Amino acid sequence: AAAAVGSSVIPIVNKLQDIFAQLGSNSTIDLPQVAVVGSQSSGKSSVLEALVGRDFLPRGSDICTRRPLVLQLVHCPKKTEGQGDEWGEFLHLPGRRFYDFQEIKREIETETNREAGGNKGVSDKQIRLKIFSPNVLNITLVDLPGITKVPVGDQPTDIEARIRTMILSYIKHKTCIILAVSPANADLANSDALQMARVADPDGSRTIGVITKLDIMDRGTDARNFLLGNVIPLRLGYVGVVNRSQQDINMNRSIKDALAYEENFFRNQPVYHGLAHCCGVPQLAKKLNQILVQHIKAVLPGLKSRVSAQLTSVAKEAHLYGDVVVTKAGQGAKLLNILAKYCEAFSSMVEGKNEELSTA
Ligand code: GDP
Ligand code: MG
Repeated sequence: AAAAVGSSVIPIVNKLQDIFAQLGSNSTIDLPQVAVVGSQSSGKSSVLEALVGRDFLPRGSDICTRRPLVLQLVHCPKKTEGQGDEWGEFLHLPGRRFYDFQEIKREIETETNREAGGNKGVSDKQIRLKIFSPNVLNITLVDLPGITKVPVGDQPTDIEARIRTMILSYIKHKTCIILAVSPANADLANSDALQMARVADPDGSRTIGVITKLDIMDRGTDARNFLLGNVIPLRLGYVGVVNRSQQDINMNRSIKDALAYEENFFRNQPVYHGLAHCCGVPQLAKKLNQILVQHIKAVLPGLKSRVSAQLTSVAKEAHLYGDVVVTKAGQGAKLLNILAKYCEAFSSMVEGKNEELSTA
């Protein structure tokens, strides 16, 4: 999918990860986690799905996400034939491959009910799902229950406090990128997402604002000032998106159609002209990419020195045990060279991106 997370950095990061795997090195690139926060029905699950480019999350106008879903995207090589090269695996069902993404969705619902009951209960016990695909970057996305104020069904009276604590336990980590999701049809000053993000990330260095539902704003209003940061400034800025409506979901509208609809929406709304850099799911993916690239660039020097140290010890071993290990050391040296080249490639890529940002 065009909007898939990390599309532009996938080849380089995967190459690097291959290098580490070949070295048998336990050093690898730990990419940051991305978590979505916001009030219930603000569109969190919809945003995650659009980023991954596949339909598999329960979404709806009622409470759907009732347990944290830790979604690990795992890059795997493209297959030319056979049973398809995209599938999901749940931690609670080891060894079983789900090739049908609708079935993944049903399993999330069943497993949610098993732990949190059938009557709107919420649990902080994670569901862990791995998605294997040639089109993704190794990254972890976390879908979280939304903030609600009034207990319904089996929810305890302190439901709001409990959900806030649960969300905070994810977004407090310094390596977590926060997608703070607020619907455009409510006042941004009332946004639970921005309020929580500010608690966890006071200087806003890892919070991206996402404004959903631009298509269903009150007539005569628009989100231009939200997106420009004139209402609540945010260091990394905002991206406005149009996800599928409940009717689209009921009618099984595909992600591809939804993306085309979104693009058309922005094209036909003069008020958003000139704001292309902060409109649409593909822009959100791009923003995430830039943050990931920065992160990788920051961790690469440390990785490089760890690999060098490892090679030195291999070389010493070679001295003691002779030829067998020498070839391994030679291989390692070659890989280190490749690694150095990738570091350079990354640096220039990041510098290119910065220029792009400054002219925006
Ligand atoms: P969550 O509770 O924050 O995970 O929200 P969901 O992703 O489940 O979405 C809640 C409801 O809002 C669903 O019925 C979606 O179809 C709808 N929705 C989400 N984003 C948009 C949007 O941008 N436009 C419209 N029209 N509906 C949306
Ligand atoms: Mg949800």
